Amino acid sequence: MRFARIQHQDRLQLVIVSDDGQRFKPAADVFDLPADDLVELIAQGGRLPAVDLSDGAALDLATLAAPMTPRRNIFCVGKNYHEHASEFSRSGFDSSAQEEIPQAPIIFTKAPSTVTGPFDAVPSHPGVTEQLDYEAELAVVIGRPGLAIKREDALSHVWGYTIVNDFTARDLQKKHRQWFLGKSLDGFCPMGPWVVTADAIDLASMQVQCWINGELRQSAPVNDLIFDIPTLIETISAGIELQPGDIIATGTPAGVGIGFTPPKFVQRGDTMRIAISGIGEIENKVH
Ligand code: MG
Repeated sequence: MRFARIQHQDRLQLVIVSDDGQRFKPAADVFDLPADDLVELIAQGGRLPAVDLSDGAALDLATLAAPMTPRRNIFCVGKNYHEHASEFSRSGFDSSAQEEIPQAPIIFTKAPSTVTGPFDAVPSHPGVTEQLDYEAELAVVIGRPGLAIKREDALSHVWGYTIVNDFTARDLQKKHRQWFLGKSLDGFCPMGPWVVTADAIDLASMQVQCWINGELRQSAPVNDLIFDIPTLIETISAGIELQPGDIIATGTPAGVGIGFTPPKFVQRGDTMRIAISGIGEIENKVH
């Protein structure tokens, strides 16, 4: 099942979207919900009923907002694809560590205020940063809460998956050493177009791709992750209880702007399109 939010009469409405992305029905018609909030629906738990969407309304992608509003920071993973770890280390922008391939997952976060819609313009923050870069990523949405989750149980805590662009100000990421500022400017996390429930996802066949102005820059299977999703969940949950609706962005493949010599930063007016097989795509213009 696919859950999205649409702008509807000055408010956000949680909707169920058909597998072909063409039709929708309001989630409130199917579920007993106090609010149009995916996090609340996830927290309620239980099995999701089958929904016939053949008579749903036509979905206009332009009205889509981010599928959810995170309750706390988004967990993110740095240098989690081999080739990207190499390109980042070579780029001179890596203030995180000396070694190319990390010994343990590098976990940082993005503030909830970074989240923006799957087709929204992304602010370029002129005067604050001059080195904007894209990062196409698969994001995990947690369902069942858990502390000290073992890797063999980890996928049973996953509710669904979505796409994020871990948009980054490279100059700030480098200058401030800790990555938070460079990763957390307002609007720096386009998300969507929907959350697909885990039962409908085949991780083994997933491909993450990103185009800038139509030019393919990133393309890798999710199978290439250095630290896989169960390892990430085990690592983060060891001492932080994961909550329903928590989001983990799993890292980006090779082909980001700083992987090129000279770097190919994105500029105002550029279009970033990210597709992940089994989910869909998001497209954001830099404004
Ligand atoms: Mg990233």
